Amino acid sequence: MTEAFDVAVVGAGVMGATTALHLARAGMRTALIDRGAICREASGVNAGTLTLHMTRAVLIPYAIRGRQLWLDAPDWLGMDAGARATPGLSVAFTPAERDMLEHRAAARRAEGAPIELVTPAQARAIEPGLNGDIIAAAHCALDGHVTAYLTGRAYRRALVAAGATLMEQHPVAGIDRAGGQFAIRVAGQPAVRARRLVLAGGVWLEAMLGWLGLHVPVKCLINQLVVTERMRPVMRSVLGIANGLLSLKQFENGTVLIGGGWQGIGDPARGGVEAIPDNLIGNVRLARAAIPALAEGRVARIWLGLESETADALPMIGPLPGIGDAYVIGCVHSGYTSGPFMGKLLADHILDREPELPLFDPARLVQPQRAATLEKTP
Ligand SMILES: Cc1cc2nc3c(=O)[nH]c(=O)nc-3n(C[C@H](O)[C@H](O)[C@H](O)COP(=O)(O)OP(=O)(O)OC[C@H]3O[C@@H](n4cnc5c(N)ncnc54)[C@H](O)[C@@H]3O)c2cc1C
Repeated sequence: MTEAFDVAVVGAGVMGATTALHLARAGMRTALIDRGAICREASGVNAGTLTLHMTRAVLIPYAIRGRQLWLDAPDWLGMDAGARATPGLSVAFTPAERDMLEHRAAARRAEGAPIELVTPAQARAIEPGLNGDIIAAAHCALDGHVTAYLTGRAYRRALVAAGATLMEQHPVAGIDRAGGQFAIRVAGQPAVRARRLVLAGGVWLEAMLGWLGLHVPVKCLINQLVVTERMRPVMRSVLGIANGLLSLKQFENGTVLIGGGWQGIGDPARGGVEAIPDNLIGNVRLARAAIPALAEGRVARIWLGLESETADALPMIGPLPGIGDAYVIGCVHSGYTSGPFMGKLLADHILDREPELPLFDPARLVQPQRAATLEKTP
């Protein structure tokens, strides 16, 4: 029988991959297991916006550190994942949006985000392509973007160099505990044994925690993204609207990515996603209203990805209650921005190092276990 790993991390998105990387670098025998390929779910298909405007206020200190880690990726990850610093603007077209903008900017400023209100003229000096009809704007000097589809390539190289065992195409079906070890059951493969366990399954965390007898509801958002064909330079900032329904940026190759959390249809258990045509049109119209020159371009492609959220919209990062040596990480709002920092936080905790900022105790979210069998309906 092969020796047990020191730690097995289930789920190779940005949360699991970062945690595994730091544990492997600290000398732990680390297995990183995913049912598909590394960073091909939310962590590979997201909009890549490094944004403080849209990050929940309490998560600002985490997002600032995560953003910096993305920009410094060549130093600690060994590869540039396309991270670029840009100005960030949030704009308002209506008085209600202006009120929201001022309120949100103040809350984020209080947590350390350098967000300042600017006049429409100042906003247009930062972003000349902006619609002249805006009535208010907020500027953040610390925004930017990353090319999300490069995430897996960057992490794979670093994990291999750190000596981690990367187990892709390994769908985990359940977890048993015996003799102080976890036995991670993978269909058609011998169980992977490990002394410690980290669950990092994104929207699939509810099912994963169920394997250990913990009931934690996880909400699934089905986010739509739209990309245009290559265009002449039409914008240079990361641009959003105060109500959060728009995020826009232009990449170096000329394509413009349009997002803002417009929802599609899908089911994390069944798989498969579908766009809602009205939402697609609404999203593109809003983008065109913000940057009128977008009318010159055509939509090249749309896709959807699954984002997780807890009942209180705060992350779960820390030890699982009542199960020694088991941990969870996930459900982080703007999780791509802060992912490289969140994974390091959990790794530091597991390694008995003082984490730089507090974790997010998952125990607060655990609900009484549902009945194992459904009662028969008459
Ligand atoms: C469309 C979209 C746009 C977004 N835009 C932004 C943005 O601009 N900025 C930002 O900061 N954040 C953004 N986010 C949020 C961000 O992408 C996520 O918070 C983050 O990537 C979540 O990482 P994760 O590792 O927790 O989950 P994931 O990346 O989803 O990883 C979970 C992994 O678990 C694996 N898994 C599941 N079940 C099993 C099983 N049974 N066995 C083995 N493995 C399993 C999956 O295959 C997957 O690889 C966006 C999200 C989406 C969907």
